[in-house]
Amino acid sequence: MSKIGDIKVIAHRPVPDGFDIKTVSVTKKADGYYVTLSLDDKTVPTIKPDFNPDNIVGIDVGLIDFYVASDNTRIAAPKHLRKAERRLKSVQRRVSRRKKGSNRRRKAIQKLGRQHKKVADARKDFHFKTAKTLLDKYDVVAVEKLNIKGLVKTRLAKSINDAGWSQFVTILSNKAVNAGLKVIAINPNGTSQECSICGHKVKKLLSQRMHNCPICHASLCRDLNAAINIKNRGAHGLKAQSMSSYRSH
Ligand SMILES: [Zn+2]
Repeated sequence: MSKIGDIKVIAHRPVPDGFDIKTVSVTKKADGYYVTLSLDDKTVPTIKPDFNPDNIVGIDVGLIDFYVASDNTRIAAPKHLRKAERRLKSVQRRVSRRKKGSNRRRKAIQKLGRQHKKVADARKDFHFKTAKTLLDKYDVVAVEKLNIKGLVKTRLAKSINDAGWSQFVTILSNKAVNAGLKVIAINPNGTSQECSICGHKVKKLLSQRMHNCPICHASLCRDLNAAINIKNRGAHGLKAQSMSSYRSH
């Protein structure tokens, strides 16, 4: 490494032939230092998108579930992840009970770091599996755009999921690109209020779990209603994108 020189590492996999090392990054984690290499293989062709725009699903961040999809499937965080998260909380409490500067506190902090990593690893694994499940079934996944100014109340209430959600969307997007598929981010304004059948705006509190439309009399779970709206906006956005690329050619 520049300025440092040679460093001994534990190589988990060999660098395959024909690859150039592009970048090297070193990160410090609770259980040691990690080296990540990014490789460049010039023989790998860039993947052209090839998807059926009608094979689309919308997903909404759930309050209880990890997500609710427009096909009415729900994915809950797996048991082992929730268990690890609970353990993390208990280790956190232990740290705050220990006297500052004490040996016991230092040990508890070390344990906290390891538990943090366990949760992060379990969460990442869950995100990869969930992304695969979605992209095995669908060509296009519509999601809510993140980091929008003036977050709607629903999103704030769901903020427990948010840290994980943005990582999940990144993993999902990368996986989609590599498979020639598509993730489309839509404007989330009003997705939970709008009626997915007739478009009428039905105001509801967060505690109201059902969407009941006084106009078309649709009655369905509010998260499912939102997921269908996300899907519809995704389909609409996709059409707009293909029209503009048609015009520009
Ligand atoms: Zn309606």
